[in-house]
Amino acid sequence: MAYDYDDQNIFAKILRGEIPNDTVLETEHSLAFRDINPQAPQHILVIPKGAYVCHDHFAMEATADEIVDFVRVSGQICADLGVTPGAEGPGYRVMANAGEHGHQEVPHYHLHIFAGRPLGPMLE
Ligand code: 5GP
Repeated sequence: MAYDYDDQNIFAKILRGEIPNDTVLETEHSLAFRDINPQAPQHILVIPKGAYVCHDHFAMEATADEIVDFVRVSGQICADLGVTPGAEGPGYRVMANAGEHGHQEVPHYHLHIFAGRPLGPMLE
């Protein structure tokens, strides 16, 4: 599978430091920052630093180090927010859009983390 990555997308510009961002957590392979148009009291985006378009691109071609780092960062953010379901917190949602049917607007792979309110059913 050939994936076509557009290095002029907004998140690529954020990674190059051309556009500012509200960073929550940064590691060797990943960056997490606040969404500019939050859909929940806590709305954080987690992106790999590598040039991956979507979930399957990342899952199939990223290195094990990149994948572990990315998943750990996403988990660390949930833990830091104190929203772990059960005794600690009320829960959250992790979501990734892909392509036209997935309503992906920025073609650099990212996870959305939503928290801070009841989020309702997943699909409209
Ligand atoms: P998608 O629809 O691609 O899954 O989500 C893209 C997300 O990126 C949207 O929630 C949108 O608000 C967010 N976004 C778009 N441009 C920027 C930006 O320049 N900075 C930040 N922090 N978020 C952005």
